[in-house]
Amino acid sequence: MEICIIGSGYVGLVSGACFAEVGHSVVCVDNDQRKIDMLLRGEIPIYEPGLEELVQRNVAAKRLRFTNSIEDGVDHSEIVFIAVPTPPQSDGSVDLTYIERVAREIAGVLKPGQYRVVVDKSTVPVKTGEKVDATIRRYNPSAEFDVVSNPEFLREGCAVPDLMRPDRIVVGSASNRATDLMKRLYEPFQSPILVTDVNSAELIKHAANSFLSLKISYINAVSAICEASGADIEMVADGIGMDRRIGRNFLNAGLGYGGSCFPKDVKAFIAIAEELGVPFHLLKEVERINASQLDRFLKKVRDALWVLRDKKIGVWGLTFKPDTDDVRNSVAIELVNKLAGEGAQVAVYDPKGMVKAVEYKLLHPSVRLAESPLDAALGAEALLLATEWKEFARQDFAGVKANMHTPLLFDGRNLLNPKIMREIGFDYHAVGRP
Ligand code: NAD
Repeated sequence: MEICIIGSGYVGLVSGACFAEVGHSVVCVDNDQRKIDMLLRGEIPIYEPGLEELVQRNVAAKRLRFTNSIEDGVDHSEIVFIAVPTPPQSDGSVDLTYIERVAREIAGVLKPGQYRVVVDKSTVPVKTGEKVDATIRRYNPSAEFDVVSNPEFLREGCAVPDLMRPDRIVVGSASNRATDLMKRLYEPFQSPILVTDVNSAELIKHAANSFLSLKISYINAVSAICEASGADIEMVADGIGMDRRIGRNFLNAGLGYGGSCFPKDVKAFIAIAEELGVPFHLLKEVERINASQLDRFLKKVRDALWVLRDKKIGVWGLTFKPDTDDVRNSVAIELVNKLAGEGAQVAVYDPKGMVKAVEYKLLHPSVRLAESPLDAALGAEALLLATEWKEFARQDFAGVKANMHTPLLFDGRNLLNPKIMREIGFDYHAVGRP
């Protein structure tokens, strides 16, 4: 099938490459000329495992191409995806200006007699589909189209496998013609397709992300009780997670959730519920617990070092999770900046996140970018692990300790083995573990 994706970021580019991989002909559109130029040169603007090869293979096979022209994309495609940003506004509600603009742009290029399915893949508040539909109709009364909601559930860091074999594909549609086309599009993925109305599909995305955030905050709240009682959160999480009704996923205590989705989607769901007159107090507590995790962690660091000013602190991790270069709303960055803000001399290392952290000017000016994990730990009075990259667990910890000034180790993601770390001689602190 011929498809077009408007917005070639984490969602649009990876989706486009995966649709091409299963045999569809895909045009990825973006209005960021720099991004399109990079893609045309064969460079990938984001890091995502497996993406580069996937893009190269499908460009070579002429199933995937890039343009800055929505008209070009819409003209050649029966299905038009919208995958543009839906950032939060200062009150937590969703800024829908990107979506509205794309709806108008699509209306401007739809030709008479040219039926199109306009699919919203961005995460949007319930009832946005109705607005997209009305907007296209207002700007182009003779356009023939249907609006479908098809929320995306990929996880950064494993977006390619997530898209190639999703747990489920949600298609919110009020039109049989559009539903049939969507089913044909997704047939090669051999995953269950749940067909709903448009409003339900939109709601599923916010409800799912808020539930996952709630699960993280739940285990983090339990980790605080573990710290107060001497219990071990890893054992408690295993014990809870072995119950199949609960499951072990998303029961990892740590510094809290971050990234470009969970914080904004929880905020958005709170705002959506508020606007609909049914306040969602539970989610406000989820946010409060999430924010308190970093405070508790920092308190432990302060308790150990007493005064942070002029202390040399090494930090491992900047990205909001491993296997991505995404540093948007990363708790690790917040941690680094709080330490630097209190006068600590922070040296940080991240395998993929340093370029974007610098490019977006996210770091306190005093922060030093280290060349390796060992370099970050050099002469440090404390080492803090903020993102659970596997390569951090594989370090030569005896060597790390030998290069530190004092062997204080704070593991914000419970990545390391406490017993081994203590045997090596670290004064080791984890989250919710004795
Ligand atoms: P992104 O910022 O990585 O990519 C969005 C792209 O859209 C950018 O390249 C931008 O230049 C482009 N764009 C903006 N306006 C445009 C326009 N008028 N015409 C053409 N291109 C335009 O964002 P993302 O992370 O891919 O997220 C997109 C949406 O998907 C958001 O609603 C997000 O909440 C949702 N989502 C994201 C993830 C994730 O893990 N990143 C997962 C599921 C859903």
